[in-house]
Amino acid sequence: MSGHPPAVHRLLAALGDAVFRLGRETVKGVIRDHLAQLRAAGGPFPEASEIIGQLKAKLAAMARPSYPPVINATGVLIHTNLGRSPRLPVEAPGYLALEFDLESGERGERLAPVREKLCRYFGTEDALVVTNNAAALLLLLAAHARGRQVIVSRGELIEIGGSFRLPEIMAEAGARLVEVGCTNRTHIADYRKALSPETAAILQVHRSNFAMTGFVATPDTASLAQLAHEAGVGFWVDQGSGCHVDLRPYGLKDEPTVQELLAAGADVVLFSGDKLLGGPQAGILVGRKQALAPLRQHPLRRALRPDKSALVALAATLDCYLSGDIQRVPLYRLLAQAEAQLKKRAQRLARQLQAAGVPASTVPTQAVLGGGTTPGQGLASWAVALPEAPAVARALRLGEPPVVCRQEQGKLLLDLKAVFPEQDGTLAAAVRRAWAYEST
Ligand SMILES: *Cc1c(COP(=O)(O)O)cnc(C)c1O
Repeated sequence: MSGHPPAVHRLLAALGDAVFRLGRETVKGVIRDHLAQLRAAGGPFPEASEIIGQLKAKLAAMARPSYPPVINATGVLIHTNLGRSPRLPVEAPGYLALEFDLESGERGERLAPVREKLCRYFGTEDALVVTNNAAALLLLLAAHARGRQVIVSRGELIEIGGSFRLPEIMAEAGARLVEVGCTNRTHIADYRKALSPETAAILQVHRSNFAMTGFVATPDTASLAQLAHEAGVGFWVDQGSGCHVDLRPYGLKDEPTVQELLAAGADVVLFSGDKLLGGPQAGILVGRKQALAPLRQHPLRRALRPDKSALVALAATLDCYLSGDIQRVPLYRLLAQAEAQLKKRAQRLARQLQAAGVPASTVPTQAVLGGGTTPGQGLASWAVALPEAPAVARALRLGEPPVVCRQEQGKLLLDLKAVFPEQDGTLAAAVRRAWAYEST
């Protein structure tokens, strides 16, 4: 401890690596701020060596990439904090024929290629893409229901994480919410009674992030569609998850697909691009031309326009489905990993780690799809287990590449369901380093 801080030029000299990576002025700024913080904290200054250590840690954090790729050992496949679905590694080139027709050399339509693919894959007349599903709902409501009524069951007034609350989105769009039924039971007659000349549409919202069991009832989609169409109002389904294939072969329960909802008579089905579609962040609306045309003209549409890199990734994802090659989509590659394969991988990893002196074992686990899909359903998986040690979990997160795991049953679990098999070697090395670092 001493009364004076070390001179800035002395600290700079000790931080040559950081100066090389970040530039002299940046490092100087960090030193000045750090010294100012120490001064403001009062009390004597730490020794120069300690200050240099603190500065090195700060500068190392600054040099890390801002959005580093991570190994997802949490067992949550669609992990909101890790970017939801792992998307195909396609990038938008610097310049691209985004709104440009190469044939005529004239301005083209930015959404035309993905619209064509969406229509073909889902078998619909029309499709539209915006930034995310919340935006899709906002645009749908603003274009059709401003100052009018939209009927929703009390059992479907949902909140999704990150402040998406259905009644609030309705209010923002200027639509009047008409609640019908009870939390657990809503009948077709409840909807019928609520219809009025002010009704713009009936909206069905998929219970994506919770499940209701017991004394519950909801009219089926086809009956609701029929009621809406007899009354001359719209029928929309916020399906959310983007489920588009039978999930039973992956060990999950059957859930209505976008295609089934369209076949049942929905005018519009909307969903996220980065949940079960396994693509980029996007809000996708598929359905009738007549229902989607007003959205295309709406002034909000420009504000909700998707980025070019999302369109490139979405087109590539749809190409996989259209060509019948679902296993090229990273999410489905992970889902297709059978329990027996995961067990073998976990055992191999544990053996490698044990040989390196890490007390690893294997345990069967329940992984989940996550991201507000298939609530309450587990996926049989296996994990490599380490003795619980928060310091090791932290060292894993701060490693290169970062590894995110979960703590359960008093253990640190590296669940393999969301780890790609080609990452196993990297994962083993990361665990060895983190363990060695923490036990020295
Ligand atoms: C996920 C979800 C949303 C929100 O979608 P974002 O793409 O995150 O905006 C809305 N409605 C339902 C039913 C959902 O499952």
